Amino acid sequence: MKRLLSVLFTSFICTYTFSQDRSIDVLHYQFQVTLTDESDTIKGVAKIKMRYLKPTTQFSIDLKNISQGKGMHVTIISGPSLKSYTHADNKIKFILGKNYHTGDTAEFMISYEGIPADGLIIAKNKYGRRTFFSDNWPNRAHNWLPCVDDVADKASVEFVITAPHQYQVVSNGMQTEETNLPAGNKLTRWYETIPLPTKIMVIGVAEFAVQWAGNVDGIPVYSWVYPENKKDGFYDYAMAPDILQWFIKNVGPYAYSKLANVQSKTIFGGMENASAIFYSENSVTGDRNAEALIAHEIAHQWFGNMATEKSFAHIWLSEGFATYLTTLYMEQKYGEDTARFLREEDRQKVIHFNMRSTMPVVDSLTHEYMDLLNANSYEKGGWILHMLRRQIGDSLFWKGIRQYYQTYAGKNADSRDAQNVFENVSGKKLDQFFHNWLYEKDQPHININWNYNPVSKTITLDIQQMQKPIYQLPLEIEIKTRNGSSLHTLNLEKQKQTFEIPVKNQPTEIVSDPGINVLATFTTRKSTDQ
Ligand SMILES: [Zn+2]
Repeated sequence: MKRLLSVLFTSFICTYTFSQDRSIDVLHYQFQVTLTDESDTIKGVAKIKMRYLKPTTQFSIDLKNISQGKGMHVTIISGPSLKSYTHADNKIKFILGKNYHTGDTAEFMISYEGIPADGLIIAKNKYGRRTFFSDNWPNRAHNWLPCVDDVADKASVEFVITAPHQYQVVSNGMQTEETNLPAGNKLTRWYETIPLPTKIMVIGVAEFAVQWAGNVDGIPVYSWVYPENKKDGFYDYAMAPDILQWFIKNVGPYAYSKLANVQSKTIFGGMENASAIFYSENSVTGDRNAEALIAHEIAHQWFGNMATEKSFAHIWLSEGFATYLTTLYMEQKYGEDTARFLREEDRQKVIHFNMRSTMPVVDSLTHEYMDLLNANSYEKGGWILHMLRRQIGDSLFWKGIRQYYQTYAGKNADSRDAQNVFENVSGKKLDQFFHNWLYEKDQPHININWNYNPVSKTITLDIQQMQKPIYQLPLEIEIKTRNGSSLHTLNLEKQKQTFEIPVKNQPTEIVSDPGINVLATFTTRKSTDQ
């Protein structure tokens, strides 16, 4: 879900600028991190394998400097032809002793330590037990990991965690080692071979109760919950296998080697970390009321995690997709009434949001990425997919969803890439559709005035689009009479249009968009000038 649990947190989250240094592409990270009970200082050794993207004599990666006692201090850096380095302004700058060529690879090792200012939450859980939960979204990884903290640079990752033996460690990928060490410590290793953006790299280190919840197409699904919540947590999170099955059936194969659903101290309601989804600690209730949340985070494993937005301006490719696919999951499970209810709820959120927002869905001006967790990215993004589905039909819509995923799994995409896929599968030009919904602020405001002529037995509808630009919309109108009702589809494409519809009986009511299929506000009035 990735909704902030409390607005209080926003005041503690600083804006970091992304590393714009595209002279390197990280191929693989190995992060060795030592955690203790004695202090919140972490010790890390990062090995970063990279490829040079252009002739390079210097490059930089992200790592938070120490400020007010928190942040990371670099102790040693080594690597081929490294002449010197600096660590300032939350970046490590590497000065090389030779000019590397495009395509050359190198591996650097960075030793560092410090108290994370953010990104790795070291705190007691609600039962007073010490825990360590990373929370990297959107670009908070560099608070505790030296990395290119940018969604566009994906890399495989291995976490090698040394921590007191009572803790269990969950992370991305497969657990490849767990070994007891002297002095009451334990080493745990997790390896993810599929390249990930840093926003979904994760570790959770705590005392857990862990249950295998089932296998889905050979993918094991686990529940990791606080021992105190074992009964309720295992029950609640055991919904995941059925949800995973639905997504595999409808979208395509699940890419990762396992799925863990983890009770955690994420600041979000849920956080879709690749194959190790974190949920807020209060997500466990014993009532299974987090089904939509679990579906949303599972949807992200395809959209956001595997097919990732090129930049956060296109975050709707994560959040809008997860929102609408959750609605579709709920629709197949609980029926069309539930889907209509969810769409209406989402429509109201968008309308309410647009009363104060002047930004379109694709928003490249907001650099405080937490502010992008808004109704444009989630509900309007989801609504765009719903209207696209109405426009091209169910079968081509699903073909487009699968095609988009297949094309961009393991890669990054932007809104234009998504548009191209849906244009290709539908054979329709969708320029106007995507332009209006993604790049224009607000939503249509539609005024409908109607009157009935008892002599000609026709109803006249004067329809006006009050906003600019003018949208092309198929709008359904339900005409209710004493003897029943009829449904009519009107194609709106001009600022003002008049439609005449023959009716057998005097209408008692006109209902605009009875199926909740158009994102707009409607003002429907019976004209008095008859
Ligand atoms: Zn989400």
